[in-house]
Amino acid sequence: MSEYPHLLAPLDLGHLTLPNRVIMGSMHTGLEDHARDFPKLAAYFAERARGGAALMVTGGFAPNVEGTLYPMASKLTTRREARQHRLVTTAVHEAGGRIALQILHAGRYAYTPWCVAPSAAKSPISRFTPRALSDRGVRRQIRAFARAARLAREAGYDGVEVMGSEGYLINEFLAPRTNQRTDRWGGTPENRRRFAVETVRAVREAVGSDFIVIYRISVLDLVEDGQTWEEVTALAHEVEAAGASILNLGIGWHEARVPTIVTSVPRAAFTSYAARLKEHVSVPVVATNRINMPEVAESVLAEGGADLVSLARPFLADPEWVRKSAESRPDEINTCIACNQACLDHSFVRRRATCLVNPRAGYETELLLGPTRTVKKVAVVGAGPAGLASATTLADRGHQVELFEARDHLGGQFDIAMRIPGKEEFAETIRYFSRRLDLTGVKVHLGRRVDAEELVGAGFDEVVLATGVEPRVPDIPGIDHPMVMTYAELVRGERSAGSRVAVVGAGGIGVDVSEYLTTAHSPTLDLDAWRAEWGVGDPARTRGGLASRHPVASPRQVVLLQRKTTSIGRSLGRTTGWVHRAALKAKGVEHVTGVAAYERIDDDGLHVRLGTDRSQRRTFAVDTVVLCAGQVSVRALADELSALGVTTHVVGGADVALEIDAKRAIRQATELAARI
Ligand code: NAP
Ligand code: SF4
Repeated sequence: MSEYPHLLAPLDLGHLTLPNRVIMGSMHTGLEDHARDFPKLAAYFAERARGGAALMVTGGFAPNVEGTLYPMASKLTTRREARQHRLVTTAVHEAGGRIALQILHAGRYAYTPWCVAPSAAKSPISRFTPRALSDRGVRRQIRAFARAARLAREAGYDGVEVMGSEGYLINEFLAPRTNQRTDRWGGTPENRRRFAVETVRAVREAVGSDFIVIYRISVLDLVEDGQTWEEVTALAHEVEAAGASILNLGIGWHEARVPTIVTSVPRAAFTSYAARLKEHVSVPVVATNRINMPEVAESVLAEGGADLVSLARPFLADPEWVRKSAESRPDEINTCIACNQACLDHSFVRRRATCLVNPRAGYETELLLGPTRTVKKVAVVGAGPAGLASATTLADRGHQVELFEARDHLGGQFDIAMRIPGKEEFAETIRYFSRRLDLTGVKVHLGRRVDAEELVGAGFDEVVLATGVEPRVPDIPGIDHPMVMTYAELVRGERSAGSRVAVVGAGGIGVDVSEYLTTAHSPTLDLDAWRAEWGVGDPARTRGGLASRHPVASPRQVVLLQRKTTSIGRSLGRTTGWVHRAALKAKGVEHVTGVAAYERIDDDGLHVRLGTDRSQRRTFAVDTVVLCAGQVSVRALADELSALGVTTHVVGGADVALEIDAKRAIRQATELAARI
């Protein structure tokens, strides 16, 4: 008997039966844009089909050139293109899976000068103003959707997903925010729905009855002048009648200023909307967003809140998510920590999407981790992300591995990150690696600071040095004052902060520490508090479901300083930086940029000079100064080992401390382990 009976129950769709309730949601990897990358895309999907996903949805393919996200982006418009997809669909079917193609018309979100929309209203996320479609133009878009669906069927797909959410073209027709038309495609809610409904009808007619048609419905636009709940339910009813066989939920437009998928969003934050929608339709409804572990999915399904769950990023993190759930091995799941660093942040700058915790994602044909031919005895020193990734990968490949860690626990920088409010998910990565160490048979020595002679004496063939970093202590007069502490001392609970704090350094860690200092209880662990914090209301009350924000006041006064004159948080992730900036603003954190010099720290506080001519003096009367001024590598062992003739590899922060980055560390460590 499985721990997750609802998750693993089959679902009869009439012409086919899905073996379980888990859909791998759409995620643009970048491999969709060129047919030359389709062998990689095929391997990526095949691996996830083998891992047990019931149905997978591709990244978005535009139905015509106007609908492409950017020049040369993925589209499905010709039979020649459809033939190229056979590689993907055949690989998935041979692996025992099913796959649907997402048809995505970017509308005014397209980064192209030829973009189109219901009205000529520019979006805040593209620099191009769209051309308003004529009546003929609207009908041409509908025919393009139908053609793409027909071609998807020819290409061997099991279905299509019509992308009707996230603020793309169909969603733009639905909301008064972007549809100012007065013809039959706008003006009244019925007219605004016409484009979505006619598109689904045309798609269904094009593909016949024995084909899945998913409609991705925006239940919560989270923008001003979005849809009301009444409009959403009427739409659901009409697209079902027009031929949709599954309704998949979409939450929030891309321009929304409420986070919907980042790590600080509580798990399953939006599944209640699926339950509400289910009351209005008879086709299966899919719950989405921040469902990353099987117990979360199971409880949503068991409560009857949805018929299916859709997970996108968790399948990048672990292709075997379903199989591990089915075999009651949830502790072996490499959990998506919703950081966006290697997936969405890459997609936004047109780099291939991969995964911070699983660098093989998207590189299935390139990062090969087969068994070693020559078994070596390898010591890994340091149990942060880089050490953990290299130790477990090496052992998995058959090497004899011993892991040495000076502290009495695993995790390195992740042990600090997981203590930041809103970053609790980082603990999952430590749990995953901890279990991997057991499974792969790595001999772990905690609380053990090894030296070079010990390692040589133990007869290791090679040493991987992943000793990480320590906080940089800048040379400021008064740096030894008792009010000064490093971020590591503060966050690990070794020191505590007073009520007036200056944070020196405004990189990722300075921002994290400011959130730590200004948040007494993490709203990520309390859905109602999180909704109040971000102003998530009820679309039955206000259009788009926006409400006023009521953030909890900060227990401290915090000032965040940097020397650069650029705005704070510029170095943060493309898809997450704005969330951190908005959180700091809500907590009243003062930003000071352009510090010319940190003059001294004394009983009166922190004294700085400001301005390019260093003429302004300012004293921050604080009782605590927290140093977040970057890091320096810890790598003394490297030179000692090399001097003793031991083959030594330095990875992670010990190799490059500048902007220490778990994504780079884990990839570097895994690639190294693949070569040894
Ligand atoms: P960082 O991004 O390099 O920032 C270090 C900060 O210290 C900068 O603001 C720098 O600004 C300042 N600084 C450097 N040398 C200084 C000195 N001698 N005296 C005073 N100030 C000095 O490093 P980090 O904040 O430690 O973050 C490390 C990495 O962790 C990031 O790059 C990121 O990859 C990752 N991370 C990301 C996040 C996130 O995205 N939320 C959170 C945590 C960590 P000035 O030179 O302008 O003063
Ligand atoms: Fe999840 Fe981060 Fe991996 Fe993206 S990069 S799939 S958000 S863990």
